[in-house]
Amino acid sequence: MVSERCYNEIVEKVKYNVGEDAFEYIWPAVKKALIEGTGKVREQILISWLDCDTCRVCTECGKIMEEGWYNMGAYACSDECVMKQDGISQEEFDRYQIFKSTIENYLDDGQNIEDLTKEEIQKIIDDNIENWDAYYTEWC
Ligand SMILES: [Zn+2]
Repeated sequence: MVSERCYNEIVEKVKYNVGEDAFEYIWPAVKKALIEGTGKVREQILISWLDCDTCRVCTECGKIMEEGWYNMGAYACSDECVMKQDGISQEEFDRYQIFKSTIENYLDDGQNIEDLTKEEIQKIIDDNIENWDAYYTEWC
């Protein structure tokens, strides 16, 4: 379901929260909730309770993900899921993977977004990724 890296973090954080002795009793229940629970349940455990660094929960389908989209406060595990959310159009997604309007802020007078090369667009993304409202990333 998740990578070893992510699994190990979850185990360590549960142990830290409940203590070594209680772990063996609580772990089966946590594991069951993560496998069978809804996206909301997974989010409550992984993010609200354990504050995991290595994963997020897809807002659309509830999948636990280690890389994916952050889109204006929501998360999406796949291109399919991010398309169900507001904020990014198919064209923006296909061409730029970020908001076209954001790139437009970086244009010189008279310059069109179409004038930018793929490398120039990538540089804007790399320089500003912390400030984007929507971007693809890996959590670690
Ligand atoms: Zn998803």
